[in-house]
Amino acid sequence: MQASTRISSILGGGSDGWEVFLRARQMIAEGTAVTELTIGEHDIRTAAPILQDMHRASMAGHTGYAAIPGINALRDAIAARVTARTGVPTNRDNVMITPGGQSALFAAHMAVIDPGDTALYIDPYYATYPGTLRGASAVPVAIEAQAEAAFQPRPADIAAVADGAKSLLVNSPNNPTGVIYSRETLEGIAEVCRDHDLWLISDEVYDTQIWEGTHISPRALEGMAERTLVVGSMSKSHAMTGSRIGWVIGPEEIVEHLINLATHTTYGVPGYIQDAALFALELGDAFEAEIAEPFRRRRTLAQNVLAAQNVVGTVPNGGAMYMMLDVSATGLNGESFANALLDAHHIAVMPGESFGAAAAGHIRVAMTIEDSAFEQALKTLCAFAEQLSANR
Ligand code: PMP
Repeated sequence: MQASTRISSILGGGSDGWEVFLRARQMIAEGTAVTELTIGEHDIRTAAPILQDMHRASMAGHTGYAAIPGINALRDAIAARVTARTGVPTNRDNVMITPGGQSALFAAHMAVIDPGDTALYIDPYYATYPGTLRGASAVPVAIEAQAEAAFQPRPADIAAVADGAKSLLVNSPNNPTGVIYSRETLEGIAEVCRDHDLWLISDEVYDTQIWEGTHISPRALEGMAERTLVVGSMSKSHAMTGSRIGWVIGPEEIVEHLINLATHTTYGVPGYIQDAALFALELGDAFEAEIAEPFRRRRTLAQNVLAAQNVVGTVPNGGAMYMMLDVSATGLNGESFANALLDAHHIAVMPGESFGAAAAGHIRVAMTIEDSAFEQALKTLCAFAEQLSANR
C-alpha cells in the first residue's frame, strides 16, 4: 500500500543538510563531549512561575476540551499586545490559537493555498518551510536573498516570479541569518504583494529578540492587514518551546476557516497551557527582555571575538538567537567546514546549505550555550578557520 503523494513529498529528497547535527548527536550518544551550537532553543527551561500556573490551572480543572479558537482571555491578551505593538486595531476575532508557530505556519498556508498553487518563500529559510508548503499541497518556489545584500530580499526578485503565485512567506527577525528586514525591504515586499494580489504570511516568532534596529510587522503597512497572516509563538519569547503555544493573526474570515481546520485536526490547545500562556504574557515586557538578554550578551561576546580576526565574515544580525558566519575564505563550503570543525574540535554548527542555496559557504551558529563556553567555542572556531585559510 502506498502513502499519499502529498505526505510522501513533505521531505524533498536528497541531502537536507542535517547530517552534521545527526552525527553530533551520535557522538554524544557514544560518550564524546560535543559543544552544540545547532538547535534554536534556550539553555534555560520554562520559568517556574509559568509552570506553577500551568499546575494551578490543571488542578483547577482546565483539563477538558478547551475552546477551539482559544480561550477568550488569551485571544484578547494577544490582540491587545498586537494592537499596542503594531498600531493595527486587532481583536479576538483576528486571533486563532494554535499548538505552536509550526502548526500556525501550516494552518496559514492551508487557509490560502489550493492544491498546486505556487507559494513563494525566501532563501535562506527556516528548515521546515519547503516541507510545510508541500504538506499544504503548494508548489514551493524559493527566492534567493543575496549574501552581498546582507540577506535582505530584493522586492524586484520577488516580483519577477510573483505572477500567478498565491502567497509569499517571510521571516523577520530571520532564522537562520539573524537579519532584520529593513523598512525599505518590507515596504517593497508589501508593494509586490499588493500589485500581484499575494497573501503575505509573516513569521514573527523572533519579534522579541531585537538587538539593533526595529522590528516592523508588515501587517501594519498600507493595505496589508487584509492580506497578511502573522505567525506568532511563545516558544522563543517566553522559553516555552515544549508547551506548543502559538497563533495566527489575520482577517476575521480567515480565522473562521482556521477554526474549521482546527476542529478537524488539532481540536485546539490544552486549556491549562493556554492559561499558563496568559499568565506568561501578563508578566509583561520586562520578562520578555529577561528571556532575550542572554542572546544579546552572547552576540556582543561574539562580535568582540570576530572583530579580532579577518577570516570569518559576519552578517549583520540585528535579531534572533543566531549568527550566520561566512567561512568561504577557508576554501570550504559550509557543510565541509561544519564537518571538519566537528571532527577537529567537537563543535557542532549548522551548515548554511541546510537553509538553502543562498547561504552556501556559511555556517549558522546558535547562541544557545552558557556565555564563557560560547565565547571559547567561537574563539576555537575562528582559530580553526584561520588555520584552514593559512594552509590553502
Ligand atoms: N518559525 C521559525 C523561523 C522558527 O525558527 C521556529 C522554531 N525554530 C518556528 C517558526 C516554530 O516554532 P514553534 O513551533 O516552536 O512555535
